[in-house]
Amino acid sequence: MGVPPFQNEPTLDFTNPTTHQAMTAALARARSTFVREYPITIDGQTRFTGAFINSSDPAKPSQVVGRVAEASTADADAAIAAATRAFASWRRVPAEARATCLLRVSAMMRRRRLDLSALMVYEGGKQWDEADGEVAEAIDMIEYYARDMRRLSGPQPLTRIPTEDNELHYLPLGVGVIIPPWNFPLAIMAGPALAGAVCGNTVVIKPSPRTPIIGAIFMDMVRDAGIPDGVINYLPGGADLGAYLVSHPAIQFVNFTGSKDVGIKVYEAASKVQPGQRWLKRVVAEMGGKDAIVVDAESDVDAAIGGIVTAAFGYQGQKCSACSRAIVHRDVYDHVLTGVVKRAETLSVGPPEAFENQVGAVIDGVAHERILSYIGIGKREGRLRLGGEPGAGEGWFIQPTVFADVDPQARIAQEEIFGPVVAFIRADSFDDAMRIANDTEFGLTGSVYSRNRTHLERARADFDVGNLYFNRKCTGAFMGIHPFGGYKLSGTNAKSGGPDYLRHFLQAKSVSEVL
Ligand code: NAD
Repeated sequence: MGVPPFQNEPTLDFTNPTTHQAMTAALARARSTFVREYPITIDGQTRFTGAFINSSDPAKPSQVVGRVAEASTADADAAIAAATRAFASWRRVPAEARATCLLRVSAMMRRRRLDLSALMVYEGGKQWDEADGEVAEAIDMIEYYARDMRRLSGPQPLTRIPTEDNELHYLPLGVGVIIPPWNFPLAIMAGPALAGAVCGNTVVIKPSPRTPIIGAIFMDMVRDAGIPDGVINYLPGGADLGAYLVSHPAIQFVNFTGSKDVGIKVYEAASKVQPGQRWLKRVVAEMGGKDAIVVDAESDVDAAIGGIVTAAFGYQGQKCSACSRAIVHRDVYDHVLTGVVKRAETLSVGPPEAFENQVGAVIDGVAHERILSYIGIGKREGRLRLGGEPGAGEGWFIQPTVFADVDPQARIAQEEIFGPVVAFIRADSFDDAMRIANDTEFGLTGSVYSRNRTHLERARADFDVGNLYFNRKCTGAFMGIHPFGGYKLSGTNAKSGGPDYLRHFLQAKSVSEVL
């Protein structure tokens, strides 16, 4: 495979008139596909099941974007059987050839980039930049894993002795299930599925029922890339189907990304050895966050204000890495709070198909109700400084919301809300800020804005998060640059987009021969 070294896919600049126009045209093309029906895929065969999941536009819930066939547990059995058959041959396809298949998929994503983004604007409620960033991230994951497989496919370095010939090889595990969340329906679906496949495994994807269309489109690319039938199967469905797949005795690994509560259930269910099961399931469970931006007394407060606003309200706060706590030194607390409120007030809330809207709707009615109920709790636990109400219009809009003077132990300071809500917490000193920052069950991302080298070094050592950033926001990890995955109840620290990731899909075999 003569490929250049990995480089991140550049993101698009929609202020450029030509790019802007091209995206406007892509949005019109996406609208012209409303209300298409999409099938499930088992063993390379697409089919309809008689049952459908409706996928709607969060900014206009009466608008069904598409209908996706819903899979049953019988379909799950058929998909696992197909994946088991495909594994027998796919595992023997040279890693180089498997990697080439991946690169064909990323090339197709590049060509269809604006159409994929446009669909996520309607299906996922993403702003143009957010949608484009996700397509770029999906491409990055695929390109990164295709290259990293080369490193892991040959014999691995060992200590040599004269009396024996010894080898260590990484081999695939078998059939896995990929369970993504709705908030990164392309990247966190295609990335893990193709990471598993490039290692020689076969997989069943069960997408989130909130965003199942983008995966059906991904399956077209899987087919066109020449990935053999049965290697990647696609079964839209809900929690019950996910639970069935996780507990299935023929599954060897589970790659889950989602909330803490579901992740814990998945982890427990996968740990039970089922009758007939001859292995322990490997589980990757990447879960939620209660991510903090810490602002020190000595810091560039304007940069911190910008970082908090972008990280708290970008994609309506619906990122695992979103800033939901601003922990601010008392000397600059009022300044930072006022600055965040002022800047957040200017954010325009509305349908993301209009480029100028910076805050769109949350994913659906269930999320809307849940976030508003947390806002109700926040009104008792803190001082409402901004927002606190639904937005105008038919969509699931919520105004950017800022609570001040929140106790570090308050529910809105401890529980993941997953919406456009940030809690300001006052810290008496940098040590106090660190203590507050670490005092949650999560440990995903965190930022520190400080000019004090001693404080930064203290945070480097003691801030318990998988992704720590200094003097920048806590969202926006780039594959290959910031391998992603948290600590504590934020997950198993799989570190997507890093050199540890593919090892989750591989087992090592040592072979020793006496000379
Ligand atoms: P969720 O936990 O509700 O659902 C995730 C997936 O699990 C969905 O596909 C869902 O259908 C499936 N599922 C639900 N119950 C199941 C069960 N019992 N067994 C098997 N599968 C089941 O999460 P969500 O609302 O889709 O996503 C948002 C959450 O994901 C947030 O908590 C966010 O922080 C987290 N997230 C984490 C990361 C990360 O890398 N750490 C990245 C993105 C999102």
